[in-house]
Amino acid sequence: MFGAGNADADLMFVGEAPGATEDKQGVPFVGQAGKLLDKLLDEIGLDRGQVFICNTVKCRPPNNRDPHPNEIESCHDYLRSQVELIEPTVICTLGNFATKLLRADTTGISRLHGQAEVRTIGARAIRLYPLYHPAAALYTPSTLEVLRGDFHRIPDLLGLGAPPQPEAVAPDPVSADLAGPASGDDYGASGADGAPAPEPDAIQLDLF
Ligand code: URA
Repeated sequence: MFGAGNADADLMFVGEAPGATEDKQGVPFVGQAGKLLDKLLDEIGLDRGQVFICNTVKCRPPNNRDPHPNEIESCHDYLRSQVELIEPTVICTLGNFATKLLRADTTGISRLHGQAEVRTIGARAIRLYPLYHPAAALYTPSTLEVLRGDFHRIPDLLGLGAPPQPEAVAPDPVSADLAGPASGDDYGASGADGAPAPEPDAIQLDLF
């Protein structure tokens, strides 16, 4: 389940992982946590058609277990590409998994929620705004009140507009040449000599 919403959205939400219903329907946040997310969006005058909602992990971890580090890492490039294509101004990370991944740091959500910071994800500078996961607020009224307070500051953040963007790095002419499709290989799956390109080393951040 890759995500849903407005591909031109200024506001993007990144949750944890799809549950069984989300996986089946191909829509994120369709359960109780999703209803709360809809309600909070409505309170700030927005709906799902105006934002983009996706998850850190694109497949459902079996039995709703926490995503494993290798699963998070496998989906990281995809999430980065989503950010580069959608070009949001503000990304709200919902809960610990998305927050730790996109900040590349182990600091937990209870210390970070409600504090916006400019971060660069892929080629995009965005305002990262960690929030409690709506599922954590469903049965804990005090968490709901904190989440609601943080949520209501989203319009002000959006009002700041996009942060200054990093300068585009011009491709090195030699490697650009080698990376071009040599023989119909549009995906760059082979090296310059036609041999399969070596897999890049997986980066293990040890965040989870
Ligand atoms: N929780 C999430 O983090 N994502 C969903 O899509 C549904 C529930």
